[in-house]
Amino acid sequence: MQLALQRCQAAGIVFWLRRIAASRAAALGLALLLATAVAALDYATGYELRMAILYLLPIALATWAGGTTAGMSVVGVSSLFWLVSFRSTHPYSGEIFFYWEGIVMITVYMTFVLLLARLRVALSRADQRFFRVLDELHAAVYVADQASGALLYANRSLARVLAVDPRTLQADELARRFGLPPDHGETPAAESLAHGGGFVAREVRDATNGRWYLVQRGPIPWNSARRVSLQVITDISEQKQAQLVHRQHQEMLHQTARLAALGEIASTLAHELNQPLTAIANYSGACLRMLQAPRHDRRELVAALQRARAQSLRAGRIIGRVRDFVRSRHPTPSECDINALVCEALELLEARLDDHAIATALTLSEDLPTTRADRTLLLQVVVNLVQNAIDAMADTAPECRRLRLSTARNSDGAIVVSVADQGAGLAEAASEKLYTPFFTTRSTGLGLGLSICRSVIEAHGGRIWHEANPGRGSTFHFTLPPETPR
Ligand code: ADP
Repeated sequence: MQLALQRCQAAGIVFWLRRIAASRAAALGLALLLATAVAALDYATGYELRMAILYLLPIALATWAGGTTAGMSVVGVSSLFWLVSFRSTHPYSGEIFFYWEGIVMITVYMTFVLLLARLRVALSRADQRFFRVLDELHAAVYVADQASGALLYANRSLARVLAVDPRTLQADELARRFGLPPDHGETPAAESLAHGGGFVAREVRDATNGRWYLVQRGPIPWNSARRVSLQVITDISEQKQAQLVHRQHQEMLHQTARLAALGEIASTLAHELNQPLTAIANYSGACLRMLQAPRHDRRELVAALQRARAQSLRAGRIIGRVRDFVRSRHPTPSECDINALVCEALELLEARLDDHAIATALTLSEDLPTTRADRTLLLQVVVNLVQNAIDAMADTAPECRRLRLSTARNSDGAIVVSVADQGAGLAEAASEKLYTPFFTTRSTGLGLGLSICRSVIEAHGGRIWHEANPGRGSTFHFTLPPETPR
């Protein structure tokens, strides 16, 4: 209790001293009063205690509050007190020693004033530089008293960003404008921990002008008598707009990817459907012939009809896949088994691979994790790479046409899919432009396939690249991050 009382008294004294130092006239008055008190004390003690050193106190007070001129004035007054009163009573054998002491003392006082004034100027310049930096900030910065809600400091941007006069503002009004709870300094512990140092950040839309702001608020030390909080308001409308445009671009990209792939799919579809349709026509022709014959084997008829049915189901599945592909406009990430996806891509292109007499080698890693991805888009990437490989091997001797497809994990744990061909390979000049939209060396190509592949893979957090094979052809690789357990 006693300690608390002492602390309160000390805080009270410090508070009043600060207030006095803040007012120039009051500080100068007090300094002169103190100097008179020191002179009186010195005189009363018969100069036995040599109290002249205490003049430094009023000199310091006057210099700090009023600068060099005020300090020098108090030096003058103090020296006059000392010279006049001590001259008749000094114990020195000659006047010269008395004046010598006077000169030394005055020099010390003046040096003290000059040093203190320099320190004061240096500190005030540092303050000015600091406030200039704050004024030049793009963000609005202000400091508010948590108890009264008054703004203790506001930088120049506050008026510009919020289009208001900060002098007329109260912190609570600003909090209301941004839908923040009034700031009474009680930052919840969990929130404080989560944001570090008690600062909380929030993106808010100002209903008055429709702009977006990032509002950061947190307590800062000011002085012992006040609890204050610092608020930083940054206009992020442009970033928000850029994010929106980016999202729209991404959506357009997915849409374009689908449309461009649609052309490829259509030709694959025609090719793929051709096989089951021909088979169905053949099986139904055979059935007809059997039925038209005077006698027929019932089991053979059933077998032929079952085969026709299987082929029509296969054709239905192919069409279903295309319909899914065209329908899903937005990327739909889901858990994705890459080995199964690679097999499905091969199944889709089975007929084309057969037509080109391409031998396929499949090496699938057994401990491959799943990934989170838009399955249809990834399927398109693999289909595209395999189609490119088929095209690249058009001029390869039939016995050398080999496609190697593999899945593996790299040292970072990422999934790696590789498509290697025995084609003509890539010229170095072409190699650099490969992923640029509309770069193609094929007369019928669109030049969008690889650029779409890259966008899709990068959108999934992966990377795509290619390299020349040691012997012939090239290998395209892409990585995908493994799905993290949720
Ligand atoms: P497109 O197939 O419509 O030309 P892509 O973006 O898929 O568009 O491919 C761009 C170009 O990259 C192709 O024209 C071709 O020159 C080259 N390319 C792609 N894959 C291979 C490959 N496996 N081997 C050799 N060249 C390839």
